[in-house]
Amino acid sequence: MDILNLDVTDEAEISPIQIVVEPTDVEKPVKKITGRLFIYNLISLILSAMLHLVVVSAFLLVYFEVIENSPGQSFFAGRGDIGQPMEFTKIDGLDKGLELEEALIPANEATTNSSEIPAATPEVTLRPATSLPDMSGQLEMPEAKLSMQAMVARQWSASALSSRAPGMKEKLIKSEGGTTESEKSVSRGLEWLSKHQKEDGSWSMSPGSVCGNLECGRVQIESFEAATGLAILPFLAAGHIPDEPGPYEKVLKKGLEWLQSRVDKNGRVMPDDAPTHYHMYAHAIVTITLCEASALQPKGSWIPAAKRAAQYIVSAQNRQDGGWRYAPGQAGDTSVYGWQVMALRSARVSGLNIPKSTMTMSRRWLTAAQTSRDGSTYAYMPMRPASPVMTAEALLCRQLFGDGPKDRGMSKGIQLVFEEVQRSMEVRNYYYWYYATQLIHNSGGKMWTKWNPIIRERLIKEQVVGGHASGSWQSLEPSMDRWGRVAGPMMQTSLGLLTLEVYYRHLPLYQVAESGNSVKGMKEAK
Ligand SMILES: [Zn+2]
Repeated sequence: MDILNLDVTDEAEISPIQIVVEPTDVEKPVKKITGRLFIYNLISLILSAMLHLVVVSAFLLVYFEVIENSPGQSFFAGRGDIGQPMEFTKIDGLDKGLELEEALIPANEATTNSSEIPAATPEVTLRPATSLPDMSGQLEMPEAKLSMQAMVARQWSASALSSRAPGMKEKLIKSEGGTTESEKSVSRGLEWLSKHQKEDGSWSMSPGSVCGNLECGRVQIESFEAATGLAILPFLAAGHIPDEPGPYEKVLKKGLEWLQSRVDKNGRVMPDDAPTHYHMYAHAIVTITLCEASALQPKGSWIPAAKRAAQYIVSAQNRQDGGWRYAPGQAGDTSVYGWQVMALRSARVSGLNIPKSTMTMSRRWLTAAQTSRDGSTYAYMPMRPASPVMTAEALLCRQLFGDGPKDRGMSKGIQLVFEEVQRSMEVRNYYYWYYATQLIHNSGGKMWTKWNPIIRERLIKEQVVGGHASGSWQSLEPSMDRWGRVAGPMMQTSLGLLTLEVYYRHLPLYQVAESGNSVKGMKEAK
């Protein structure tokens, strides 16, 4: 991953070769150019040109393979036309009682011109902390009776996590398609994670270096911050409440305390010497973790750190395209963007008010990254071909913003991902499957019934069982993951667990999808 630091200036390293293969300079004093000398010159010139070509090609290959080949790379290539304007269906207000008018952004607001962009960074504010509401009665209610607005709105409130409460969780495992085996797999995974926490409360991206067993895996990159966030999230998803008695009470306490100590006074998580290309990824992972912990335990000491970290995301948004990338303020990419949107949602769930302008601008990125006229496919960056991974991530963001199945491109896009992800199974790609699973789960219905057992059984089968690494998912075994070399066993295990926890990590989004209703549709039906 160190080669990721390559930038264009590395081309300068090509120049020494230029000197070696240019004897023509030496021969300049010879005024009479004989025929033989001319041929020599010609051969030198050709050799020089060929060598340059080889070196430049090799450089470009490395550059594109490593830097550009991020999780956003194209697999949909050629599908969809680039740069077409997008029209979103407007979503009218929200249930006032849920105070979520800022969370769901009407698409047409996102197209406001830059003169409306606030000059100063808007503030994240803290609402009075509340513990999770009891939503157990709501599951008894047929989902279709809940309005789409209410369903989306609860995804942006503390209610979203009430799914993890005992009783509720069991109901959801049953109704959403989890099994005893999938739960055993989650337990094994959590156990393995707990055994690989370091003394200071953090985790390493190379857990094998913590326990000294090679089988637990290592990876080139290191980010203790990202590793710690990735390790804690599956515990929270499983319903382990920080600072409450339980088998992982100490694990969570030490982990969260270490994590909060990493958020500086400006809300920044990553140290200066960390490679910038994963700065905002790691930042988002840490923010999601601190915010979810705050939502689950409103007395937690990490709440101020969670707020500062969320504020940092607000400040780091690109004010023109509404996206995020490796460094604060950089023009966006869909991969990093998706993680920030999930972090803002977690912040909101924890009781933080995200400025409306941030949410409005974030809609703009989806317009920029759209590759098809109908808004069904998305690219890693504007003017790039559509990618199924980025399409899954972008459509999931749209679901959270309140776009229903009748909104432009949603059903078609989800269908495309559903079909493509099944074709993708030959090459392991947990990053893709993590997003695709959430997207398909949110849309529910027959697609979910078909996809769920495929992904569930695949993950159970690929988890290491037996031996010291039991409970982990390794990135190179049983086959190489698409991002295995850079993600390593921590990312692999975390995404494996979170995918198996999809049944209860959040309350189901909208089962009304099956009946074809959208917010707009429901309004028209009235
Ligand atoms: Zn180990």
